[in-house]
Amino acid sequence: MPFELPKLNYPIEGLEPYIDGKTVEIHYTKHHATYLANCNKALESHPQFFEKTMEWILSNLEQIPQDIRTIVKNNGGGYYNHNLYWENMAPAGTKEPSGKLLQNIETSFGSLANLKIEMEKTGLARLGSGYSWLSTDKDGKLVVHSTLNQDCPLSEGFKPLLVVDVWEHAYYLKYQNRRAEYLTNWWNIVNWQVVQERYS
Ligand code: MN
Repeated sequence: MPFELPKLNYPIEGLEPYIDGKTVEIHYTKHHATYLANCNKALESHPQFFEKTMEWILSNLEQIPQDIRTIVKNNGGGYYNHNLYWENMAPAGTKEPSGKLLQNIETSFGSLANLKIEMEKTGLARLGSGYSWLSTDKDGKLVVHSTLNQDCPLSEGFKPLLVVDVWEHAYYLKYQNRRAEYLTNWWNIVNWQVVQERYS
């Protein structure tokens, strides 16, 4: 079975005023859907990989045949990274993290506020296109890091927990060059419940 576009858990305008509906519409139905279509098309020549999960594929890129490896890395990454991005957002007003996740955020970053600053700084420092992530590393430690283009943390030995897309297509209509403002506003629509579920 080919991979499928996951449904959004909120209406197209549900992230306003922090991300406008037009941006979500183009981002989801054009950018995200195109990565998915390109990935499915590449895998048609090696359909045994449709039986794997995208997590497995991105964690084991060296096992993907060389003729499609780069296409799968870029488009499978584009598919999977966007799945996480949409899933870890929700209309404003969700609860902030608690319990073990919050405790470990405080151990690793000092406070939730510091984690936010770290992720914003990392997203701002990403030259060109990519993502800013909160992940766990090989030892299970929380880390903030960025990836370039559609590279996925799974391919670099990290387990992603929270992601913000810093490609211009994610914010340009509303924020133009003001990536910092997008990143600051973005915290209003983070779905921490999903992050806690991934963490546990
Ligand atoms: Mn994007």
